[in-house]
Amino acid sequence: MPNLSPQRADVNFACVGCGKCCTGHHVPLTLGEARQWAADGGQIVILVEALLESSLVRPWGKELAHVVKRSQEVLSGQTQAHVAINLAAFNPAECMHLDDDKRCRIYERRPLVCRIYPMEIVPDLVMLQEEKDCPPEAWQQSEPYLRNGLPADAELARLIVLSRQTNYEQVSLRAAICAELGIGTAALKGDGFTAYFPDMTRFADALDKVSSAREVVVGEWDFAASSVEIAEHLAAQGAALTQSANSGAFQFIPVTSAT
Ligand code: SF4
Ligand code: SF4
Repeated sequence: MPNLSPQRADVNFACVGCGKCCTGHHVPLTLGEARQWAADGGQIVILVEALLESSLVRPWGKELAHVVKRSQEVLSGQTQAHVAINLAAFNPAECMHLDDDKRCRIYERRPLVCRIYPMEIVPDLVMLQEEKDCPPEAWQQSEPYLRNGLPADAELARLIVLSRQTNYEQVSLRAAICAELGIGTAALKGDGFTAYFPDMTRFADALDKVSSAREVVVGEWDFAASSVEIAEHLAAQGAALTQSANSGAFQFIPVTSAT
């Protein structure tokens, strides 16, 4: 699959400041950004999915390489899993940093993902204008955004690479934060996500602790499933199943409602 479809190779775009992308989207954060989010009084959601050889949806090509590189290899029962842990700013409504004029109050230090939107970060993922929040007028500007399927702006290209690289480099620290917080249940990729809403004081303490630790400690993981069929499927692969599905420790978000 080509990186970008030919008909979308050349795209013009300029942000018109409508603020829609700052409303109702959980913003993926680096560890440094998550620590700052905590310091600013925000809430983090930790979203977890894991890949087994038998996952229902298996990416391929560059996307598979990306998924594996941003995942921690862990033990689950009798098998290995690649656990992808995503820290995101919890924004069920307007972001706490959006002001009444739809401007970002922390524009100069806004997270990487906010600087990259609407471009995609995952390799091979085509940017579909119709799936973005940007209004039609944003795509009718004269500023070149993509040329031959690549970012026209060198700074945007640099930020995408930086975002991927930081994501890969912080894999084990994200897993160690989860171990510190007692988080250890994932959903099978393609079935859904487990979502955790940590107490933010505990989260900040855990982040500080693992960031300064000499050794990274990564725990074993088990799985929650959306159905008996998926649970049986996981068990057949030798994966461990959670015994705490009703404990309230996490919410299970089925893939049909995950964004
Ligand atoms: S940090 Fe700023 S740019 Fe990012 S979602 Fe919040 S208001 Fe929008
Ligand atoms: S939705 Fe698009 S146009 Fe609107 S603020 Fe976000 S990036 Fe800018």
